[in-house]
Amino acid sequence: MSDSDSRKSSARILILGAGFAGLAAAIRLGKEGAKAQVTLLSRRNFHLFTPLLYQAATGLVDPDHIAQMVRPAARKHGFTFFEGEVANLDIGSKTVKTDFGDVAYDYLVLAMGSENNDFGIRGVPEHAISLKTLPDAERVHSKIIDSLERSLVTGDQAKRKGLLTFVIIGGGATGVELAGSVRDFVQFLLRDYPGLAEDQLSVVLVELMQNLLPGLSKYLSEQTYRILSKRGIKIRLNSRVAEVTEEGVLLSGGELIQTANIFWTAGTKPSRLVDGLDIEKDRGRVRVDEFLRIIGHPEIFAIGDLASISDSKTGQKVPATAQSAVQEGDWVGRALSRMLSGKKVEPFVYKDKGYMLSLGRQVGVAEFRHFKTSGVFGWLLWRMIHIALITTTRSRLGVIFDWTFAYFYRRNAAHTEP
Ligand SMILES: Cc1cc2nc3c(=O)[nH]c(=O)nc-3n(C[C@H](O)[C@H](O)[C@H](O)COP(=O)(O)OP(=O)(O)OC[C@H]3O[C@@H](n4cnc5c(N)ncnc54)[C@H](O)[C@@H]3O)c2cc1C
Repeated sequence: MSDSDSRKSSARILILGAGFAGLAAAIRLGKEGAKAQVTLLSRRNFHLFTPLLYQAATGLVDPDHIAQMVRPAARKHGFTFFEGEVANLDIGSKTVKTDFGDVAYDYLVLAMGSENNDFGIRGVPEHAISLKTLPDAERVHSKIIDSLERSLVTGDQAKRKGLLTFVIIGGGATGVELAGSVRDFVQFLLRDYPGLAEDQLSVVLVELMQNLLPGLSKYLSEQTYRILSKRGIKIRLNSRVAEVTEEGVLLSGGELIQTANIFWTAGTKPSRLVDGLDIEKDRGRVRVDEFLRIIGHPEIFAIGDLASISDSKTGQKVPATAQSAVQEGDWVGRALSRMLSGKKVEPFVYKDKGYMLSLGRQVGVAEFRHFKTSGVFGWLLWRMIHIALITTTRSRLGVIFDWTFAYFYRRNAAHTEP
């Protein structure tokens, strides 16, 4: 990036999406004291801490506690926040169309994340619940409780079996964590449901590939398989879902897994807002250069889940995770600030900080460069690091309280959804 990219000191920077990437960019611009008017625009006025979404879905944390308010950060770091829905991007006239009117920019940061991807499989939108938003988590939670309640009053044995079978489709990070937590949740609830026995409950995890956690390391994949199998979760590898129906999940070989509870965590696709843009893409994701700018549009940056980013040192694709999104947002905030002051900017370099998963009560798995661990220690580490990653005091204290309460007493099992 050269000094010639520098604009006037009151440049208007518009960031779309208050997720991990967008919020990190806005905060960094504030911390750097960038010579710009920074505006962050997002659908809701909170930042959703997705790594704990499956815990909200299984009564372990209060959904409110993973919704981190954006306005305190805006006040602290000196950026403007607007809640609104982006309807369209007009990159020709440097304008973003929203539900409250048009917003003009000099620099644009695309950080609207990704959406659930059902790969066009029949029946998924109607019969499966995805896990991407807070309302999704509440729907999953409600579905589990509703099924347990109905299983006690039905006289139909086949129907009862379906109500007590919980199928998670997708053995990626979200799917394995959800499977472990659903298992804990239903097992824990047994004491309040006289008439139900543990051997009547079944949690099934369906994965298309030949191993769990495709894309992550062999160690994480094998440990996760071992731990979940030991906990009684039925893992179905090499299993392609052909259709999802009212009766259950139909696999491509013709087998029907009968269930009333289908949770979809099998994939994501970039925000639909980039679909119509006439720019370079890589399997739907926005292709960017080593400065995270859209090719042919040096005034537009694309970061987080919607971008296809390669590490400038290794050439390897950067994974679509919260960890990467924060690094990219932080990098763009610093780069823009330096650019506006006429300073040199080095290309983006990704730092892999490792990966960890919580697979149920007192069991987790973690891998950092040369350090690997599983079991109770992995679980404790996961908890400590996630508490540190939560950025607002309200959310952090809320989650600590929820975990402590659930550990010594109980999870939330009230059926509050209609
Ligand atoms: C259940 C779940 C668990 C996960 N667990 C982990 C984990 O443990 N570790 C990890 O590293 N990653 C995890 N991830 C992945 C991680 O959440 C994403 O990689 C990360 O959120 C990407 O950040 P982002 O900023 O690109 O998008 P997001 O965080 O999704 O943010 C996008 C923002 O844009 C807003 N937006 C979207 N469209 C519009 C619009 N049209 N108008 C206005 N605003 C809009 C959204 O409301 C949102 O605020 C998980 C994901 C899920 C779904």
